[in-house]
Amino acid sequence: MLIQGKDECALCAICHKRGGRYKCPKCQACYCSVGCYKGHSKECTEAFNEENVIEELKGQKATPEQGSKMRAQLAEMTSIDTKGTQLPANSNR
Ligand SMILES: [Zn+2]
Ligand SMILES: [Zn+2]
Repeated sequence: MLIQGKDECALCAICHKRGGRYKCPKCQACYCSVGCYKGHSKECTEAFNEENVIEELKGQKATPEQGSKMRAQLAEMTSIDTKGTQLPANSNR
């Protein structure tokens, strides 16, 4: 299921055609694939070993368990983020 929130990328920031499945750790740009990641910013790709990223993406495909784990972590993070804005109903008065 797709989680649509403030932090979630609805569209790839580079091609605007697909959903931003990944996020650049440096500029937070959303991208759908390694190809888009390579094209979005040279500084980012140079700072972040692109080979490393590709290997990571490949690893995610090879081991879906890790991918789901990462997704769970992401979901947790986003839920915490939403919790921060929506305080629990403790104000009874
Ligand atoms: Zn893209
Ligand atoms: Zn970037």
